[in-house]
Amino acid sequence: EPLCIIVLGMAGSGKTSFVKRLDSHLNIRKPHYVINLDPAVDSVPYMSYIDIRDTVNYKEVMKQYGLGPNGGIVTSLNLFSTMFDDVLKLIAKREKEVDYIIFDTPGQIEVFNWSASGSIIAEALAATYPTIIIYVLDTVRSTNPQTFMSNMLYACSILYKYKLPFIIAMNKIDIVDCKYAENWLQDYDEFYDALSSESTYAANLTRSLSLALEEFYSTIKACGVSAFTGEGMDAFMRLADEAAIEFEDYRADCETLKR
Ligand code: GDP
Ligand code: MG
Repeated sequence: EPLCIIVLGMAGSGKTSFVKRLDSHLNIRKPHYVINLDPAVDSVPYMSYIDIRDTVNYKEVMKQYGLGPNGGIVTSLNLFSTMFDDVLKLIAKREKEVDYIIFDTPGQIEVFNWSASGSIIAEALAATYPTIIIYVLDTVRSTNPQTFMSNMLYACSILYKYKLPFIIAMNKIDIVDCKYAENWLQDYDEFYDALSSESTYAANLTRSLSLALEEFYSTIKACGVSAFTGEGMDAFMRLADEAAIEFEDYRADCETLKR
């Protein structure tokens, strides 16, 4: 039974690059394939088994419905999700051959997270296969404590929305070490100190929010990776396999709810 890995993250955090890296990292050892769910991308740097662009033409959707770029992407993904039964059939055809199915998602995270299609797709997958969510964090752009906080709030909202096993991949550690982020996740005082001198409204809010997030932090899996150099990918795969085991608990919970 394959493990479905859905890769989410802010625009530019490196989702597509990470998917490419995961693809080449697994290549030699583990059978897998990639599914591209970004309708607006010009080209993808990996081979995909299924590509949303083969089914919906994003530019046509924009024209036909008189939409701008964002509306076009949302509508394309919605159209695609209405045909997700066919996608599941294609996945089922090869389910015995592969260990992992990796999903790349649209650049703008809002598209997947706040539209119906994201839930439809994630829930349809999780109903059939073990499914986990990867949140790609841009380690370079999160060194400011308040930016880090916004990113973590977003991560938290995704975790509680999907309730699926969740891993934060702190990407781009070839540029900036992710030690600072790990410290902030593990130790509230470190984060507090980083905000120290500021007493602006935003800084105070950030302090209270991070206290509220402590519970979320304590359950989270995170590791540093570089989509460019491949550093951290072995550790990441260990977390992914742990998360797959965690999914069995999720499944058991669903069964109990059904009864
Ligand atoms: P997406 O929008 O989340 O799919 O992000 P992309 O994969 O398109 O990457 C956004 C930008 O970040 C590109 O310019 C990438 O070259 C860069 N990038 C992605 N991963 C890494 C990484 O691990 N290290 C470095 N230095 N740059 C990266
Ligand atoms: Mg992308």
